[in-house]
Order: sequence, then structure tokens, then C-alpha cells
Amino acid sequence: MKKLKYILSIAFVIILVVTMIFINRENKEYESTIYAMNTVMTIKAYGPNAQKGITAAVSEIYRLEHELSVTEPSSKIYEINNASGEPVELVQQKASNDVGDTSDTSALLKESVYISKLTDGAFDISIYPIVKAWGFTEDEFRVPTEEEIKELLNMVGYESIIINDATGSAGVQIPAGFMIDLGGIAKGYAADRVRDILVESGVKNAIINLGGNVLTLGSNPGLGDWKIGIKNPLSDGDIATTVTANNKAVVTSGSYERYFEKDGVRYWHILDPKTGYPAKSGIASVTIIADSSTYADAMSTASFVMGVDKTEELYRQCGDFDYVIVTESGKICSSLNE
Ligand code: ADP
Ligand code: MG
Repeated sequence: MKKLKYILSIAFVIILVVTMIFINRENKEYESTIYAMNTVMTIKAYGPNAQKGITAAVSEIYRLEHELSVTEPSSKIYEINNASGEPVELVQQKASNDVGDTSDTSALLKESVYISKLTDGAFDISIYPIVKAWGFTEDEFRVPTEEEIKELLNMVGYESIIINDATGSAGVQIPAGFMIDLGGIAKGYAADRVRDILVESGVKNAIINLGGNVLTLGSNPGLGDWKIGIKNPLSDGDIATTVTANNKAVVTSGSYERYFEKDGVRYWHILDPKTGYPAKSGIASVTIIADSSTYADAMSTASFVMGVDKTEELYRQCGDFDYVIVTESGKICSSLNE
């Protein structure tokens, strides 16, 4: 009897140790922080496949940074912007890691125009000439004159982006003088790609934060649902509220993210394509929660331009996102409270 008890307790200890080793292996955290696409990016992933997944994801971010760049002469976006009104072919190659692969550019251009239509032009990648005039591209900030903005507005309008979608290859054409930039959507897209790569690598739990574009996978090991704090845009270091997000993108756009001040006036980097001036809709920050980070990224930029009422209207119409808005007066308007 005594012997049986002894054997049972040894067996119990062995099972406990094996279970602990297993849990430890499954929950082991790997983290990588890089600087890409003009922002700090952190990927945290858990489990035995995490390191391999993160390594693959990081090289994909660097590849996308080049492919989607507006300033690098080798990118398709640069070619489109310098084509003097001529069509540019977007060759879609098979291997996604091919240097010449432009299928991401093609996918993003289509998604961008789709969201422009959905938001009645609040999101518009052809706003770039005006973003450039304000100096947001090179960090050489200035306030353009009213005449300059009026002139440049003639070169803005997503309706003029022509995407010819023939089978196998696609072409894009913008009028001479027009310029496009994927700055309002590219980080969201990169986060979706990172998530896909982590999943392909066998990772089950992860949190990706590409400069405010947060995307969660599975849960926070040992702690349950992922909880994402939303910064209070009106007071540095504070959290305005927290959202719970499982397998969701949580993307924030705010006037506090990138701005400059001139003669006591603050000018920020999200512009209203109808006026050419920083969007003043009464929103200080907006967070969009959706399945796709690409969609959430573009929609957060659009919502910032549209304001609370139109965002709420679109939320009822689309039904595929949630929003948390902090207004300039500090009020929180959210679809999550309903
Ligand atoms: P962040 O890049 O800080 O996360 P957003 O995703 O909101 O913020 O994107 C802002 C960037 O998008 C700007 O820096 C600019 O390049 C571009 N942009 C500005 N206004 C618009 C707009 N109305 N539609 C599309 N892109 C915009
Ligand atoms: Mg955005």
C-alpha cells in the first residue's frame, strides 16, 4: 500500500513537471522591435514557432517598406507618380517574396479606392501633393498659402485614379501632376501580412503593434483576452479607455500623432481632401476595431476626417467595424457601449 502511494506521488510529480515544461514552452514569449515605415514596430509572439515566425515577419515588413514607398525610385508608387499621366503596368508575380512582386501595391490601390468611395472621399490616397506641400513627407513643416492649396486641390481626387484590372496583370493611371501615397493604409496592411505569416509559421498567440496599428492573434497566454489601452489624446501618458480584442485589429488615428505648431496654431498630418487643411471634425482620436487591419487603418483615417456623426452612420451601414472616439472636448463616443 505504502509502495503504491509512493509510486502514485512520483507519477504525479512527473506529470506536473512535464505539464509545466509544456506550458512554459507553449507560453514562451519572443519579442522583436524594429524601426520601419517611419515608426516603431513591435511583434510579440508566443510558443515554439514564435522566433521563426517573427524572423519571417520582420523581413516581410522590410520588403513591404520598399515596395510601398512613395520616395524610393524603385517602387511602383514612385513610378506611377512620375509617369506623367501614362498608364503603369502592375505585373503580378507568383512568389510573394520576389523583389519585383507588386501584387501588394495592386491590392492596396484597389482597397484604397474602395474605401474612398465608401467614405465619400474622406480617405483619399491622391491627397499626397498637399501632404507634401505641408512638409509632412520630409518633416520640413510649413503652412502653404491659400492660393497654393487651391491650386493643389485641382490635383486631388480618387475618381481620377484609373485601375485597369485585366486578368493576370493590372494597370494604373493617374493624371499628370497627380500623386498617390499609401501612408494612411500601408501599416495596417503590413500588420495583416505579419499576422498571416505568424499563423503560417504555427504561432497561435501574438500581439503586433506597428506604430499604433495593433493586431491580436489568439489570447494573451495565461491572462486570457488581450486588453488594449487607448491613449488619452488630451493628456500625455493617460489611458482613455481599454478595449478587449481577440483576433481583431485595433487601429488609432489622432491629431496628437504627428503635428507641428506655427504662431500658436497646431497643424496635424491628417488632411481633409475637400479643403486641403488638417481635418477639423471635432475628433481628437479615433480607434477602429475590425477583422482586417488594412480596413481599420484606412477607416480610422477616414473617420478622423468625417467626424462622429458620419462615422456612426457608416457603422450602421457597414456593420463590420466598431469605433471608439475621443472628442476634442474629452467625450468618449463608442459603438462598444451599445
Ligand atoms: P498614422 O500614419 O499616424 O498612423 P494615419 O493612418 O491616419 O496615421 O495616416 C496618416 C497619413 O496618411 C498621413 O501622414 C498622410 O501621409 C496620409 N493622409 C493624410 N490625410 C489623408 C486622407 N484624408 N486620406 C488618405 N491619406 C491621408
Ligand atoms: Mg490610417
